[in-house]
Amino acid sequence: MCLICVEIAKSKMSVNEARQQLREMRLGMDKDHIAEVEAKLDQVEKATSGKP
Ligand SMILES: [Zn+2]
Repeated sequence: MCLICVEIAKSKMSVNEARQQLREMRLGMDKDHIAEVEAKLDQVEKATSGKP
């Protein structure tokens, strides 16, 4: 878990914001976890697309 995961879990951050954060944070992050976060963002995006 990282800040991005926490914020997504709390729905405090939009997918776009999280992607931006990820870009800024990825240098200090574990490569495997970056993939996890990206997968999570894709899920959230699918889950929220189509809703107002
Ligand atoms: Zn995380």
